[in-house]
Amino acid sequence: MGSTSGFGLRESPGNPIPAVPEDPWAGAEEAFEHRDVVINSQDKVSDVYTQLEKLGEGKFGTVYRLQEKATGKIRAGKYFRTRTAKEKEAARAEVELMNLLHHPRLVQCLDAFQGPSQLVMVMEYVAGGELFERIVDDDFEHTEPSSAQYVRQILEGLQFMHGQAIVHLDLKPENIVCVSPGSHWIKIIDFGLARKLAPDTPVKVLHGTPEFMAPEVVAFEPVSFSTDMWSVGVICYILLSGESPFQGDTDMETLSNVTAAQWGFEEETFSEISQQAKDFIGQLLQKEPRRRLPSAAALLHPWLRQPQPSSPKALPKERMRQFLARRKWQKTGKALLALQRLTLLSQSLEGKAAEAQDEEGLDCSLEEEQPSRALPQRGPNPSELLADREEEEEDDGGSIAASGQ
Ligand code: ADP
Repeated sequence: MGSTSGFGLRESPGNPIPAVPEDPWAGAEEAFEHRDVVINSQDKVSDVYTQLEKLGEGKFGTVYRLQEKATGKIRAGKYFRTRTAKEKEAARAEVELMNLLHHPRLVQCLDAFQGPSQLVMVMEYVAGGELFERIVDDDFEHTEPSSAQYVRQILEGLQFMHGQAIVHLDLKPENIVCVSPGSHWIKIIDFGLARKLAPDTPVKVLHGTPEFMAPEVVAFEPVSFSTDMWSVGVICYILLSGESPFQGDTDMETLSNVTAAQWGFEEETFSEISQQAKDFIGQLLQKEPRRRLPSAAALLHPWLRQPQPSSPKALPKERMRQFLARRKWQKTGKALLALQRLTLLSQSLEGKAAEAQDEEGLDCSLEEEQPSRALPQRGPNPSELLADREEEEEDDGGSIAASGQ
């Protein structure tokens, strides 16, 4: 393994897809580019950047590849619709949070433009795609030590976030991306659900993806930095085995498994995995948040501090492929369902009525549609969590945010 310090993105102006480096740990020593961004309301994004192809679709916006006209540098631009005050506030909040997150393991916001009905957040372009997708490529190394290196990098990013009192709240494999196609350097993306926590102000949220959600989220109890640590435990479990520890046949069953914190190491899938790795996961997948390792302590766990063996054993990839296929299938299924609902809605509502609904945020989620429109006053049961759509409210004890995922 290469050096573990002095990270940075290998910039390749005008060449969006860097060549696969021969050494997957190469490209880390170059400068780490970051800026404090002031939202620009004077210029149009199109004055400064040329919009290229679409990179992805998120909960809150569409992401395009951009090229900076003056320098030729390639960036990613997230286009938020900001037609309502609520949408505008959410987009601006994401930029403001990202201004607090200058770290090489966290994707950087480099510019932002506010137009009449959209905000464009310009980020560094992360060219390598999702880590799990890279791992299942035939020529990509996948071993227990390389998995430990990914987890270490996730923890470094999280340690910085938590030091800034920010929780990510949406850690899942899709949000861990590789710096370039053959690189083992990763970054965390998507701070759309991240929140800054203040002491003595409990924050409860009703969002997430069932198989990565912590028990306190399902129980509608206050979240903390430990909430992210649970998700790291789930990601690590999948990374090493291809199995998702809480996944049931339905979302309801998944949420019940999370609530019960019912999980274990299957003999067959974990037979080749070290005791230290299992101990590490065990110290994160604790139902009681206070019993989970915090990020700084997790970085000191012996599993992440072992010397690298010279020829580590390759881990099987087949289960990971099945895991990815299922995630895609779930997202497509739910997107279709959402589309169907939108079609029905647009058929049954006309004119102002339809417009009013749209303003309320009926843009359908591309994935799980969990939160109930009527927020429960107590901890929701799983079926409430799986009810429809999106809402935001404040209560006495702190803010409650519920957002479709
Ligand atoms: P949302 O918060 O709306 O869910 P994301 O931030 O997850 O949106 O972005 C949606 C998709 O766009 C991602 O899954 C990824 O494919 C792509 N994407 C996002 N940010 C970048 C980036 N900085 N570089 C390259 N692709 C990106």
